[in-house]
Amino acid sequence: MPLIAVLPGDGIGPEVTTQARRVLEALDLGLQFEEAPVGGAAYLVSGRPLPPETLTLAKRANAVLFGAIGDPRFEALERQLRPEAALLGIRRELGLFANIRPATLFPGLESATSLKPEAVAGLDIVIVRELVGDVYFGEKGRRHNAEGLRQGYDVMSYNEAEVERIARVGFEMAKRRKKKLCSVDKANVLETSQLWRDVVNEMSTQYPEIELTHMYVDNAAMQLVRQPNAFDVIVTGNLFGDILSDQASMCAGSIGMLPSASLRAWSGDNGMYEPIHGSAPDIAGQGKANPCAAILSAAMLLRHSLSDEASAQRVEKAVAGALAKGARTADLGGSLSTTEMGDAVLRELV
Ligand code: NAD
Repeated sequence: MPLIAVLPGDGIGPEVTTQARRVLEALDLGLQFEEAPVGGAAYLVSGRPLPPETLTLAKRANAVLFGAIGDPRFEALERQLRPEAALLGIRRELGLFANIRPATLFPGLESATSLKPEAVAGLDIVIVRELVGDVYFGEKGRRHNAEGLRQGYDVMSYNEAEVERIARVGFEMAKRRKKKLCSVDKANVLETSQLWRDVVNEMSTQYPEIELTHMYVDNAAMQLVRQPNAFDVIVTGNLFGDILSDQASMCAGSIGMLPSASLRAWSGDNGMYEPIHGSAPDIAGQGKANPCAAILSAAMLLRHSLSDEASAQRVEKAVAGALAKGARTADLGGSLSTTEMGDAVLRELV
Protein backbone atom coordinates (compact mmCIF):
# COMPACT_ATOMS: atom_id res chain seq x y z
CA MET A 1 0.00 0.00 0.00
CA PRO A 2 1.77 3.20 -1.14
CA LEU A 3 2.54 5.62 1.69
CA ILE A 4 1.97 9.32 1.09
CA ALA A 5 3.66 11.74 3.51
CA VAL A 6 1.46 14.81 3.90
CA LEU A 7 3.37 17.91 5.00
CA PRO A 8 0.82 20.76 5.04
CA GLY A 9 3.17 23.45 6.40
CA ASP A 10 2.12 27.05 7.00
CA GLY A 11 -0.44 29.64 5.97
CA ILE A 12 -2.68 28.35 3.20
CA GLY A 13 -0.59 25.14 2.98
CA PRO A 14 -2.94 23.14 5.24
CA GLU A 15 -6.04 24.58 3.53
CA VAL A 16 -5.04 23.55 0.01
CA THR A 17 -3.42 20.26 1.04
CA THR A 18 -6.66 19.16 2.71
CA GLN A 19 -8.45 19.49 -0.62
CA ALA A 20 -5.71 17.62 -2.51
CA ARG A 21 -5.88 14.81 0.03
CA ARG A 22 -9.68 14.63 -0.26
CA VAL A 23 -9.30 14.13 -4.01
CA LEU A 24 -6.67 11.42 -3.58
CA GLU A 25 -8.84 9.65 -1.01
CA ALA A 26 -11.90 9.84 -3.27
CA LEU A 27 -10.01 7.88 -5.94
CA ASP A 28 -10.10 4.91 -3.57
CA LEU A 29 -6.66 3.62 -4.54
CA GLY A 30 -5.85 2.21 -1.11
CA LEU A 31 -3.28 4.92 -0.38
CA GLN A 32 -2.02 5.32 3.15
CA PHE A 33 -1.47 8.85 4.49
CA GLU A 34 0.77 10.04 7.32
CA GLU A 35 0.95 13.70 8.27
CA ALA A 36 3.85 15.63 9.86
CA PRO A 37 4.58 19.28 10.63
CA VAL A 38 7.05 21.30 8.57
CA GLY A 39 8.18 24.94 8.37
CA GLY A 40 6.87 27.44 10.90
CA ALA A 41 4.28 24.92 12.12
CA ALA A 42 7.10 22.52 13.00
CA TYR A 43 9.21 25.26 14.59
CA LEU A 44 6.31 26.08 16.90
CA VAL A 45 6.05 22.53 18.23
CA SER A 46 9.68 21.41 18.11
CA GLY A 47 11.94 24.45 17.71
CA ARG A 48 13.06 23.19 14.28
CA PRO A 49 11.55 23.85 10.84
CA LEU A 50 12.44 20.34 9.68
CA PRO A 51 12.23 17.91 12.61
CA PRO A 52 14.08 14.60 12.09
CA GLU A 53 10.76 12.69 12.32
CA THR A 54 9.36 14.72 9.42
CA LEU A 55 12.45 14.08 7.32
CA THR A 56 12.36 10.36 8.16
CA LEU A 57 8.71 10.17 7.11
CA ALA A 58 9.50 11.99 3.85
CA LYS A 59 12.30 9.51 3.12
CA ARG A 60 10.18 6.49 4.03
CA ALA A 61 7.17 7.52 1.96
CA ASN A 62 6.59 6.68 -1.68
CA ALA A 63 5.79 10.34 -2.27
CA VAL A 64 5.45 13.60 -0.38
CA LEU A 65 2.43 15.87 -0.73
CA PHE A 66 3.68 19.27 0.40
CA GLY A 67 1.64 22.41 1.08
CA ALA A 68 3.68 25.57 1.54
CA ILE A 69 5.98 27.08 4.13
CA GLY A 70 6.58 30.63 5.30
CA ASP A 71 5.40 32.62 8.26
CA PRO A 72 6.17 36.32 8.79
CA ARG A 73 6.46 35.70 12.55
CA PHE A 74 9.71 33.83 11.97
CA GLU A 75 11.43 36.19 9.54
CA ALA A 76 13.79 37.52 12.20
CA LEU A 77 15.09 34.06 13.17
CA GLU A 78 18.52 32.97 12.04
CA ARG A 79 18.33 31.55 8.55
CA GLN A 80 18.55 27.84 9.43
CA LEU A 81 15.59 28.15 11.80
CA ARG A 82 13.32 29.94 9.35
CA PRO A 83 10.53 27.93 7.67
CA GLU A 84 12.23 28.20 4.25
CA ALA A 85 15.16 26.14 5.60
CA ALA A 86 12.80 23.13 5.78
CA LEU A 87 12.01 23.25 2.09
CA LEU A 88 15.63 23.57 1.03
CA GLY A 89 16.52 20.84 3.54
CA ILE A 90 14.00 18.32 2.19
CA ARG A 91 15.01 19.03 -1.39
CA ARG A 92 18.67 18.51 -0.53
CA GLU A 93 18.16 15.45 1.71
CA LEU A 94 15.93 13.69 -0.81
CA GLY A 95 18.17 14.70 -3.71
CA LEU A 96 15.23 16.29 -5.52
CA PHE A 97 17.21 18.04 -8.24
CA ALA A 98 14.54 18.23 -10.94
CA ASN A 99 11.53 20.48 -10.54
CA ILE A 100 8.87 20.04 -13.21
CA ARG A 101 6.49 22.98 -13.47
CA PRO A 102 3.81 22.72 -16.11
CA ALA A 103 1.97 25.96 -16.95
CA THR A 104 -1.33 25.13 -18.58
CA LEU A 105 -4.17 27.49 -19.28
CA PHE A 106 -7.44 25.66 -18.67
CA PRO A 107 -10.18 26.62 -21.14
CA GLY A 108 -12.33 29.38 -19.67
CA LEU A 109 -9.53 31.04 -17.71
CA GLU A 110 -8.38 33.26 -20.60
CA SER A 111 -9.98 36.27 -18.96
CA ALA A 112 -8.35 35.53 -15.58
CA THR A 113 -4.90 36.31 -16.92
CA SER A 114 -3.56 39.83 -17.16
CA LEU A 115 -2.40 39.10 -20.72
CA LYS A 116 -4.47 39.28 -23.89
CA PRO A 117 -6.64 36.14 -24.13
CA GLU A 118 -5.34 35.42 -27.66
CA ALA A 119 -1.74 35.46 -26.37
CA VAL A 120 -2.38 32.76 -23.77
CA ALA A 121 -5.14 30.63 -25.34
CA GLY A 122 -4.14 26.98 -25.29
CA LEU A 123 -1.04 27.64 -23.20
CA ASP A 124 0.75 24.41 -22.45
CA ILE A 125 4.42 24.73 -21.52
CA VAL A 126 6.71 23.04 -19.01
CA ILE A 127 9.50 24.65 -17.05
CA VAL A 128 12.19 22.23 -15.87
CA ARG A 129 14.01 23.96 -13.05
CA GLU A 130 17.19 22.76 -11.34
CA LEU A 131 16.42 22.59 -7.63
CA VAL A 132 19.40 21.80 -5.44
CA GLY A 133 22.20 23.99 -6.77
CA ASP A 134 22.90 27.52 -7.96
CA VAL A 135 23.03 30.60 -5.80
CA TYR A 136 20.48 29.16 -3.31
CA PHE A 137 22.86 26.44 -2.18
CA GLY A 138 26.23 28.13 -2.69
CA GLU A 139 28.39 29.68 -0.01
CA LYS A 140 26.68 32.71 1.47
CA GLY A 141 27.36 35.17 4.18
CA ARG A 142 28.00 38.70 5.37
CA ARG A 143 31.36 40.42 5.65
CA HIS A 144 32.92 43.84 5.62
CA ASN A 145 34.65 44.83 2.42
CA ALA A 146 37.97 46.67 2.12
CA GLU A 147 36.22 50.02 2.68
CA GLY A 148 34.55 48.67 5.81
CA LEU A 149 31.12 48.51 4.17
CA ARG A 150 28.77 45.67 5.08
CA GLN A 151 28.54 43.20 2.21
CA GLY A 152 26.27 40.22 1.55
CA TYR A 153 27.29 37.46 -0.86
CA ASP A 154 25.78 34.29 -2.31
CA VAL A 155 27.95 32.21 -4.59
CA MET A 156 26.45 30.98 -7.86
CA SER A 157 27.93 27.75 -9.18
CA TYR A 158 27.10 24.60 -11.10
CA ASN A 159 29.39 21.73 -11.98
CA GLU A 160 29.04 19.89 -15.26
CA ALA A 161 27.42 16.81 -13.70
CA GLU A 162 24.72 18.97 -12.12
CA VAL A 163 24.00 20.65 -15.44
CA GLU A 164 24.01 17.36 -17.31
CA ARG A 165 21.45 15.62 -15.08
CA ILE A 166 18.93 18.48 -15.23
CA ALA A 167 19.50 19.01 -18.96
CA ARG A 168 18.76 15.33 -19.47
CA VAL A 169 15.40 15.77 -17.78
CA GLY A 170 14.75 18.70 -20.13
CA PHE A 171 15.69 16.71 -23.23
CA GLU A 172 13.64 13.69 -22.10
CA MET A 173 10.64 15.90 -21.40
CA ALA A 174 11.01 17.55 -24.82
CA LYS A 175 11.20 14.11 -26.44
CA ARG A 176 7.77 13.26 -25.04
CA ARG A 177 6.26 16.56 -26.18
CA LYS A 178 6.88 18.80 -29.22
CA LYS A 179 10.62 18.06 -29.38
CA LYS A 180 11.52 21.68 -28.67
CA LEU A 181 13.83 22.61 -25.81
CA CYS A 182 14.82 26.14 -24.83
CA SER A 183 17.70 26.42 -22.38
CA VAL A 184 17.61 29.68 -20.44
CA ASP A 185 20.77 31.22 -18.98
CA LYS A 186 22.75 34.44 -18.77
CA ALA A 187 25.84 33.27 -20.60
CA ASN A 188 26.66 36.76 -21.82
CA VAL A 189 27.74 37.79 -18.31
CA LEU A 190 27.86 34.73 -16.02
CA GLU A 191 30.59 32.10 -16.19
CA THR A 192 28.26 29.61 -14.48
CA SER A 193 25.84 30.14 -17.36
CA GLN A 194 28.57 29.73 -19.99
CA LEU A 195 29.42 26.31 -18.55
CA TRP A 196 25.68 25.52 -18.46
CA ARG A 197 25.38 26.42 -22.16
CA ASP A 198 28.49 24.44 -23.14
CA VAL A 199 27.25 21.30 -21.38
CA VAL A 200 23.73 21.58 -22.84
CA ASN A 201 25.23 22.00 -26.32
CA GLU A 202 27.48 18.95 -25.83
CA MET A 203 24.48 16.87 -24.77
CA SER A 204 22.41 17.93 -27.74
CA THR A 205 24.38 15.54 -29.96
CA GLN A 206 22.68 12.70 -28.03
CA TYR A 207 19.28 14.16 -28.92
CA PRO A 208 19.41 14.98 -32.64
CA GLU A 209 15.60 14.89 -32.86
CA ILE A 210 15.27 17.78 -30.37
CA GLU A 211 15.34 21.37 -31.63
CA LEU A 212 17.53 23.09 -29.04
CA THR A 213 17.60 26.86 -28.61
CA HIS A 214 19.27 29.09 -26.01
CA MET A 215 17.86 32.29 -24.59
CA TYR A 216 19.13 34.84 -22.09
CA VAL A 217 16.92 35.02 -19.04
CA ASP A 218 15.99 38.68 -19.53
CA ASN A 219 14.79 37.95 -23.05
CA ALA A 220 12.99 34.81 -21.82
CA ALA A 221 11.10 36.89 -19.26
CA MET A 222 10.00 39.21 -22.04
CA GLN A 223 9.08 36.43 -24.51
CA LEU A 224 7.11 34.63 -21.82
CA VAL A 225 4.59 37.46 -21.71
CA ARG A 226 4.86 38.39 -25.39
CA GLN A 227 4.27 34.97 -26.90
CA PRO A 228 4.31 32.24 -24.23
CA ASN A 229 3.11 29.57 -26.63
CA ALA A 230 6.31 29.91 -28.64
CA PHE A 231 7.91 27.83 -25.85
CA ASP A 232 7.33 24.18 -25.19
CA VAL A 233 9.92 22.95 -22.67
CA ILE A 234 12.23 25.38 -20.88
CA VAL A 235 15.20 24.10 -18.89
CA THR A 236 16.95 26.48 -16.55
CA GLY A 237 18.78 26.92 -13.25
CA ASN A 238 17.35 27.30 -9.78
CA LEU A 239 17.20 31.10 -9.54
CA PHE A 240 16.00 31.81 -13.08
CA GLY A 241 13.47 28.96 -12.89
CA ASP A 242 12.06 30.26 -9.63
CA ILE A 243 11.32 33.64 -11.15
CA LEU A 244 10.22 32.52 -14.62
CA SER A 245 7.75 29.97 -13.27
CA ASP A 246 5.99 32.55 -11.10
CA GLN A 247 5.80 34.73 -14.18
CA ALA A 248 4.42 31.82 -16.22
CA SER A 249 1.72 31.37 -13.60
CA MET A 250 0.17 34.64 -14.66
CA CYS A 251 -0.09 33.30 -18.21
CA ALA A 252 -2.13 30.45 -16.68
CA GLY A 253 -4.55 32.69 -14.82
CA SER A 254 -3.29 32.54 -11.26
CA ILE A 255 -0.42 31.32 -9.16
CA GLY A 256 -3.09 29.16 -7.52
CA MET A 257 -3.24 27.03 -10.69
CA LEU A 258 0.38 25.86 -11.02
CA PRO A 259 1.47 22.49 -9.63
CA SER A 260 4.97 21.08 -9.46
CA ALA A 261 6.84 17.84 -9.06
CA SER A 262 10.30 17.62 -7.55
CA LEU A 263 12.08 14.46 -8.59
CA ARG A 264 15.39 12.73 -8.17
CA ALA A 265 14.92 10.56 -11.21
CA TRP A 266 12.80 10.77 -14.32
CA SER A 267 10.13 8.76 -12.52
CA GLY A 268 10.02 6.71 -9.38
CA ASP A 269 9.26 6.99 -5.73
CA ASN A 270 10.18 9.64 -3.20
CA GLY A 271 9.15 12.57 -5.35
CA MET A 272 7.70 15.66 -3.70
CA TYR A 273 4.62 17.39 -5.04
CA GLU A 274 3.62 20.93 -4.19
CA PRO A 275 1.91 23.98 -5.60
CA ILE A 276 4.42 26.57 -6.79
CA HIS A 277 2.89 29.22 -4.56
CA GLY A 278 3.93 30.04 -1.02
CA SER A 279 2.00 30.24 2.22
CA ALA A 280 0.15 33.44 1.17
CA PRO A 281 -0.04 34.99 4.65
CA ASP A 282 -2.29 37.74 3.26
CA ILE A 283 -5.18 35.29 2.73
CA ALA A 284 -4.28 32.48 5.15
CA GLY A 285 -7.11 31.21 7.35
CA GLN A 286 -9.78 32.97 5.31
CA GLY A 287 -10.83 30.06 3.10
CA LYS A 288 -9.96 32.08 -0.02
CA ALA A 289 -7.04 30.04 -1.37
CA ASN A 290 -7.38 28.30 -4.69
CA PRO A 291 -6.68 24.59 -4.07
CA CYS A 292 -6.28 23.70 -7.79
CA ALA A 293 -2.47 23.91 -7.78
CA ALA A 294 -2.37 21.49 -4.84
CA ILE A 295 -4.92 19.17 -6.45
CA LEU A 296 -3.00 19.22 -9.74
CA SER A 297 0.17 18.47 -7.75
CA ALA A 298 -1.60 15.37 -6.45
CA ALA A 299 -2.24 14.40 -10.09
CA MET A 300 1.49 14.74 -10.77
CA LEU A 301 2.15 12.54 -7.73
CA LEU A 302 -0.04 9.82 -9.23
CA ARG A 303 1.73 10.13 -12.58
CA HIS A 304 5.36 10.33 -11.50
CA SER A 305 5.61 8.49 -8.18
CA LEU A 306 2.81 5.91 -8.51
CA SER A 307 2.96 5.46 -12.31
CA ASP A 308 -0.84 5.77 -12.39
CA GLU A 309 -1.42 7.84 -15.52
CA ALA A 310 -5.13 6.99 -15.67
CA SER A 311 -5.81 8.36 -12.18
CA ALA A 312 -3.65 11.42 -12.88
CA GLN A 313 -5.77 12.20 -15.92
CA ARG A 314 -8.99 11.64 -13.96
CA VAL A 315 -7.91 14.33 -11.51
CA GLU A 316 -6.81 16.75 -14.23
CA LYS A 317 -10.09 16.24 -16.09
CA ALA A 318 -12.03 16.84 -12.87
CA VAL A 319 -10.27 20.19 -12.38
CA ALA A 320 -10.94 21.11 -16.02
CA GLY A 321 -14.57 20.01 -15.62
CA ALA A 322 -15.11 22.12 -12.51
CA LEU A 323 -13.59 25.17 -14.21
CA ALA A 324 -15.65 24.56 -17.35
CA LYS A 325 -18.79 24.67 -15.20
CA GLY A 326 -17.72 28.05 -13.86
CA ALA A 327 -16.22 27.08 -10.49
CA ARG A 328 -13.88 29.92 -9.49
CA THR A 329 -12.09 31.01 -6.34
CA ALA A 330 -11.43 34.73 -5.77
CA ASP A 331 -8.03 34.75 -7.53
CA LEU A 332 -9.86 33.60 -10.69
CA GLY A 333 -12.56 36.23 -10.30
CA GLY A 334 -15.10 34.00 -8.51
CA SER A 335 -16.46 33.64 -5.01
CA LEU A 336 -16.02 29.97 -4.06
CA SER A 337 -14.20 29.12 -0.87
CA THR A 338 -11.27 26.71 -0.83
CA THR A 339 -13.53 23.88 0.35
CA GLU A 340 -16.26 24.70 -2.18
CA MET A 341 -13.68 24.59 -4.97
CA GLY A 342 -12.56 21.20 -3.65
CA ASP A 343 -16.21 20.07 -3.64
CA ALA A 344 -16.61 21.22 -7.26
CA VAL A 345 -13.59 19.16 -8.32
CA LEU A 346 -14.81 16.12 -6.38
CA ARG A 347 -18.20 16.31 -8.13
CA GLU A 348 -16.39 16.03 -11.48
CA LEU A 349 -14.32 13.02 -10.48
CA VAL A 350 -15.75 10.28 -12.64
P1 NAD B 1 2.98 33.59 -2.17
O1 NAD B 1 3.04 32.65 -3.32
O2 NAD B 1 2.71 33.00 -0.85
O3 NAD B 1 1.86 34.71 -2.46
C1 NAD B 1 1.96 35.62 -3.55
C2 NAD B 1 0.56 36.19 -3.85
O4 NAD B 1 -0.23 35.16 -4.50
C3 NAD B 1 -0.21 36.59 -2.59
O5 NAD B 1 -0.97 37.73 -2.88
C4 NAD B 1 -1.13 35.40 -2.34
O6 NAD B 1 -2.34 35.73 -1.69
C5 NAD B 1 -1.40 34.89 -3.76
N1 NAD B 1 -1.60 33.43 -3.77
C6 NAD B 1 -0.66 32.49 -3.58
N2 NAD B 1 -1.20 31.27 -3.63
C7 NAD B 1 -2.52 31.44 -3.84
C8 NAD B 1 -3.63 30.55 -3.96
N3 NAD B 1 -3.47 29.21 -3.91
N4 NAD B 1 -4.85 31.06 -4.17
C9 NAD B 1 -5.02 32.38 -4.26
N5 NAD B 1 -4.02 33.29 -4.14
C10 NAD B 1 -2.78 32.82 -3.94
O7 NAD B 1 4.36 34.38 -2.18
P2 NAD B 1 4.94 35.46 -1.13
O8 NAD B 1 3.82 36.31 -0.62
O9 NAD B 1 6.08 36.05 -1.81
O10 NAD B 1 5.52 34.59 0.07
C11 NAD B 1 4.80 34.30 1.27
C12 NAD B 1 5.59 33.27 2.07
O11 NAD B 1 5.66 32.03 1.34
C13 NAD B 1 7.05 33.67 2.33
O12 NAD B 1 7.37 33.29 3.64
C14 NAD B 1 7.85 32.87 1.32
O13 NAD B 1 9.16 32.58 1.76
C15 NAD B 1 7.03 31.61 1.26
N6 NAD B 1 7.15 30.84 -0.01
C16 NAD B 1 7.09 29.49 0.12
C17 NAD B 1 7.11 28.71 -1.01
C18 NAD B 1 6.94 27.23 -0.85
O14 NAD B 1 6.53 26.77 0.19
N7 NAD B 1 7.25 26.43 -1.86
C19 NAD B 1 7.17 29.29 -2.29
C20 NAD B 1 7.19 30.70 -2.37
C21 NAD B 1 7.18 31.46 -1.23
